[in-house]
Amino acid sequence: MLRMSENLNETLAQARRLWLFLDYDGTLADFAPTPEHVDPDPELVDLLTRLARHSRLRISVISGRRLSHVRSLVPVPGVLLAGTYGVEMQTPEGEQSNRVVYETIRPALDALKPRWEQLMAGREGFFLEDKGWALALHARFAAEDEAERVLDGARQMATEVASLGPFRLLGGHKFLEIGPTLAHKGRTVEYLLERYPWPGALPVYAGDDDKDEEAFGVIKAHGGIAILVSREPSHTQADCRLESPQAVRQWLEALR
Ligand SMILES: [Mg+2]
Repeated sequence: MLRMSENLNETLAQARRLWLFLDYDGTLADFAPTPEHVDPDPELVDLLTRLARHSRLRISVISGRRLSHVRSLVPVPGVLLAGTYGVEMQTPEGEQSNRVVYETIRPALDALKPRWEQLMAGREGFFLEDKGWALALHARFAAEDEAERVLDGARQMATEVASLGPFRLLGGHKFLEIGPTLAHKGRTVEYLLERYPWPGALPVYAGDDDKDEEAFGVIKAHGGIAILVSREPSHTQADCRLESPQAVRQWLEALR
């Protein structure tokens, strides 16, 4: 896989329109200390505001965070926001919608939540995030072996729940989440491309983890470009790589 090459920059420069799909954490901004951290970065807000005014660009931010948090982090008119991997949406005009009926998923999560809480009780370094539409167990600050044991137990419980309804499990490093099957960045990109067609636009997706990787394939199937944000080269379907959120911002600056 290539670093962002001149060829690619040329392709982007020549496209009549660019539809950017951008992940937030680890892509537009460095990771926050906890998922509850929702202070917007003024520099980023300014950058996205300028980009959103550009008629050649369409900007969508697609995050695993709940929509209310994405909205706090990206208070930018004219940008489509997708929270919980696209289960919750806000259009560029500010209209909100949900792609899943809340009542169909919440009872199962309500049943699972106290079981996960019990599993974590009295242990250091765990954090249970209730997004409404999904439950996420973060073990980033837990000891390696304890994290593994707790996440294994949590995964067993979540697998039982997932087998009973329209759910999926999402993994990651010291991380487990259960949410609706539509909590899927690839399916969200597919949905947006179909729902809001923009003739002549080149879709471009930038993201840093395995949840973004699910969107890379969709973007490429639509003739678009996938950008992995990572310090190290890694196994990916992406076309190219940017080293850090700082590099992503520089690249976006240059698009104007
Ligand atoms: Mg990310």
